[in-house]
Amino acid sequence: MQEKLDDLKKRLAEISDIHNAAALLGWDQQTYMPPGGAAARARQLATLSQIAHEKFTDDAIGCLLNALHAHAHSLPYDSDDASLIRVTKREYDKARRLPPALVSEIAYASAQAFESWRKARNESRFCDFAPYLQRILELKIRYAGYLGYTDRIYDPLLDEFEPGMKTAQVEAIFANVKKEIVPLVHAISSKLHEVDNSFLHQDFHEDKQWDIGVEVARLIGYAFERGRQDRSPHPFTTSFSRDDVRITTRFMPDYFPAAFFATIHETGHALYNQGLRHELERTPLADGASLGAHESQSRLWENLIGRSRSFWKFFMPRVQAVFPEQFRNVNAEKMYRAVNRVQPSLIRVEADEITYNLHIMIRFELENALLEGRLAVSDLPDAWNTRMQEYLGITPPDDAHGVLQDVHWSHGSFGYFPTYSLGNIFASQLFDQIKKDISGLDTYFEKGEFHILLDWLRANLHIHGRKFTLDELANKITGESLQTHSFTAYLKNKYGEIYNL
Ligand code: ZN
Repeated sequence: MQEKLDDLKKRLAEISDIHNAAALLGWDQQTYMPPGGAAARARQLATLSQIAHEKFTDDAIGCLLNALHAHAHSLPYDSDDASLIRVTKREYDKARRLPPALVSEIAYASAQAFESWRKARNESRFCDFAPYLQRILELKIRYAGYLGYTDRIYDPLLDEFEPGMKTAQVEAIFANVKKEIVPLVHAISSKLHEVDNSFLHQDFHEDKQWDIGVEVARLIGYAFERGRQDRSPHPFTTSFSRDDVRITTRFMPDYFPAAFFATIHETGHALYNQGLRHELERTPLADGASLGAHESQSRLWENLIGRSRSFWKFFMPRVQAVFPEQFRNVNAEKMYRAVNRVQPSLIRVEADEITYNLHIMIRFELENALLEGRLAVSDLPDAWNTRMQEYLGITPPDDAHGVLQDVHWSHGSFGYFPTYSLGNIFASQLFDQIKKDISGLDTYFEKGEFHILLDWLRANLHIHGRKFTLDELANKITGESLQTHSFTAYLKNKYGEIYNL
């Protein structure tokens, strides 16, 4: 049995090396590669991804998994080996169900759709993008059919990003959140002027923004000797092993929070990967549990810490030292309120902590309607605008500020969006547990001591890697399934106080 397990691990280690080499090429593509390198890089990435796919879907892996099935069941569910066999089997079965021809057809259609989307967004003309989206939609419907489902067509697509999660469960979770936050947003809408953030809109020299970003990343525990930060048009985190986890950021010269919070966000993702156990390296378990679980870490650091009063009590003198002119008359309390200003807005990536989730729910509802044939692609802009008005009280003036703003659908990434909000929700649930386990957390934060929080996350979440689903993690760590009351209570308390509701 040990021999078979060793054989499986050896094969998976090689596949993992190929994926990580591809990730390094992808990192370079978005940071340092000259534009001329694009065509060759696309070929190199396609070749590596094909080799990895062929190796992973090899019959030999299926035979090993079958032979190890009984062995896995004889071990504790959470043991490294049982988890490795279980998670590998889950991914193997999915990969084997998809015809390679369909996968490359989707890759090809996505490349075309992406180009069309970029152009259509620049010109704000949805009708130019519509035929490409229609094509992607038809391909993804076939894709979902191959993966298989019993209830909803969205289930297998969601499962790719959030294993084990069902559409109906997300609907129930979102309904709970929506019923609490729509009235909250409406109540705040009449009091928007009560929070001043004008001092955040000034000139902030890029080099100094860089320095303060590095300082905050280091403060919350990012190990630069096992990572690095670079610039890219869209911030992201990538890793090639737990000892090489990289983040990127971008700067707005006239708005302080953009780079600052993007850096904390990406650092949150990176801390998760830097906290994985060495023993899980070069296996399919060497990553965060899911996109939602990963986003819970970025959001926890960005919002629950970075936008907290206790954080600013400690950190305000630091930013004041770097930007003395800009923040001359700003104290910690004023900063706390400013970075939490709520403003219903058109663009998801610029949205505040509350309204962000409404942007996600709109996309989730529309994706389901498209896939289930309840909504025609040509009617998508109208459906988008109607919901924006209903949930946020604003209507986009054009497609670029509405239905065309996100890249995801051009990539065929249906099922991705909900994981952003699931991350927000899980972050609050975790944080309630952390407050139960560690008393006086704020006192630590006010002194700039964040290691106590990182240690907790390492011991309770990061060490598991990809062994468990989001719901399994929620149960294991907090004793209940993913729930919404922690998140809605957090929002109502925090913003009720800021806006005097
Ligand atoms: Zn993120």
